[in-house]
Amino acid sequence: MKTSIATVSLSGELPEKLDAIARAGFDGVEIFENDFLAFDGSAREVGAMVRDHGLEITLFQPFRDFEGMPEPQRSRAFDRAERKFDVMQDLGTDLVLVCSNVSPIALGGLDRAAADFHELGERAAKRGLRVGYEALAWGRHINDHRDAWEIVRRADHASIGLILDSFHTLARKIDVNSIRSIPKEKIFIIQLADAPLIDMDLLYWSRHYRNMPGEGDLAVLDFMRSVAATGYDGYLSLEIFNDQFRGGSPRSIAIDGHRSLIYLGDQVKRSEPDTIMKVPPMPAPIEVEGVEFVEFAANEEEAAELASLLHTLGFRKTGTHKTKQVVRYSQGGINLVINTEREGFAHSSYAVHGTSAYALGLKVADACATVARARALGAQPFEQAVGPSELGMPAIRGVGGGVLYFVDDKSELKNIWTIEFDPVADDAAAQNAGLRQFDHVAQTMNFDEMLTWLLFYTSILKTRKTPMVDIIDPAGIVRSQVVENETGSLRITMNGAENRRTLAGHFLAEKFGSSIQHLAFRTDDIFETVAALKANGFVPLQISQNYYDDIEARFGLDPELADRLKAANILYDRDDNGEYFQLYSPNYGEGFFFEIVERRAYKGYGAPNAIFRIAAQKRYIRPQGMPKGH
Ligand code: MG
Ligand code: MG
Repeated sequence: MKTSIATVSLSGELPEKLDAIARAGFDGVEIFENDFLAFDGSAREVGAMVRDHGLEITLFQPFRDFEGMPEPQRSRAFDRAERKFDVMQDLGTDLVLVCSNVSPIALGGLDRAAADFHELGERAAKRGLRVGYEALAWGRHINDHRDAWEIVRRADHASIGLILDSFHTLARKIDVNSIRSIPKEKIFIIQLADAPLIDMDLLYWSRHYRNMPGEGDLAVLDFMRSVAATGYDGYLSLEIFNDQFRGGSPRSIAIDGHRSLIYLGDQVKRSEPDTIMKVPPMPAPIEVEGVEFVEFAANEEEAAELASLLHTLGFRKTGTHKTKQVVRYSQGGINLVINTEREGFAHSSYAVHGTSAYALGLKVADACATVARARALGAQPFEQAVGPSELGMPAIRGVGGGVLYFVDDKSELKNIWTIEFDPVADDAAAQNAGLRQFDHVAQTMNFDEMLTWLLFYTSILKTRKTPMVDIIDPAGIVRSQVVENETGSLRITMNGAENRRTLAGHFLAEKFGSSIQHLAFRTDDIFETVAALKANGFVPLQISQNYYDDIEARFGLDPELADRLKAANILYDRDDNGEYFQLYSPNYGEGFFFEIVERRAYKGYGAPNAIFRIAAQKRYIRPQGMPKGH
């Protein structure tokens, strides 16, 4: 399996694009004519620059409005082709992409088009060049790869082949199984793109909304399985037109692109074990058993404030690290760790972001296999010096430069809490509040990072994504998308902020980047939890009392239940499966907070309640800035 990406997919000048593409690990690059034309250098210089980066030019494109023209346009099209061939020879590539004709004067007719391609094949062969024909989804007469293949078949020339592009095929819902009967030597290259499902004009959708395989909603894997069935093992080339990507960092878009292809190859290999496609070996997608811990970096003063908030939430100090300034708090199956070390990664994270939940510890079946898969998919490993009585936990870098740690039951990591920590008695401990486990971990990020982390989580871990929903903040929209596993033991909500005036945007600005913004814990009985929290002196986030009149009417709630919810500041939601109860802490520091939920078979995250929660949180912020602690 060889990987390629079109220059049009990235922002920046040509040298910057090539640098990002080479560093991300691609083998080849499609040169878009405009990138070449805008570059102040000859075709030979561009070709040399590409090869200096260790890349191959997989093709030159586009060549438009060629086949089926009346005279004199037909003759002119051949003249144009000869000039493209000159450029290709100087660039040092043998393949040109001809996309199906969109001109209103194109005449149509399979035999006419086949005859034109036969003649073009003759001209190309004289120079040792090849021509690939691609059906655009909006082509005038040819908009289906089956018709394009029929033209290539009738052209009957060794220098004429087919180019398949997943977007054009899938956007028109063409049966991908029709690819299985195409001879592999007639497929000159495979172009890949995904896209979110949006009902809009095909051309506009294609030019602005394509994204990397796995980031959208199209059945790119089905498409690739059909391609693999032909025996094709040539280049897979990304051709992504996306406004956001063309304004983004070429480096990170290139990394995402490379990850998407390796992940797609791995999926093909797993679903079609006989395929001849050579994909880098890696462990299967990782099953997550649950969130084992969340670690905060803090200074001593803020650690004390956080600890007192945790006490009111019913947590108990259960351990101190044998050699480091690290304290463990527990309740049910929840572990929270506060790190106040003055050196090491936690300290540098504190120095940049202030007190924050910078690390997430996941319980998996095999921690080392997890890191092996993550590395194969281009994740950055995380390692720091291991002290005496420390295990050296397998880890990778995650959202916002934070850390994802992995523990398992198959190694000494299962004894992490007894090996690295001394048990302690907690004199200040209050009443257990019945919090049993992490329900979800909410990470806030810039909107344009969301696809990156979506692909990161779904490619490494055995998870799925849910559709994106809009969270209405009084100051703007925050996009929210969930990565979760089948059992619900891992639920990560990602919130993408587009402006700084939303609560999420404020958090990003204050924390200098993406991070965990809230942790939700699960209880089996929210009212018992509320009673224990009250005894502990916990004061919840105060919800507008008007909210309760509304939900009583909206859901037809028993007035007695509505009164209990109101008295306890509990938010309520219901879906087809069941009911959901949510209670929030006030903000801790710059917008971080805790949530307590009870799920009665409910599958969602209370999105309709977010506007009321955010409005309440903003009331806390407004008078004298964010309160410290609670
Ligand atoms: Mg294409
Ligand atoms: Mg939540």
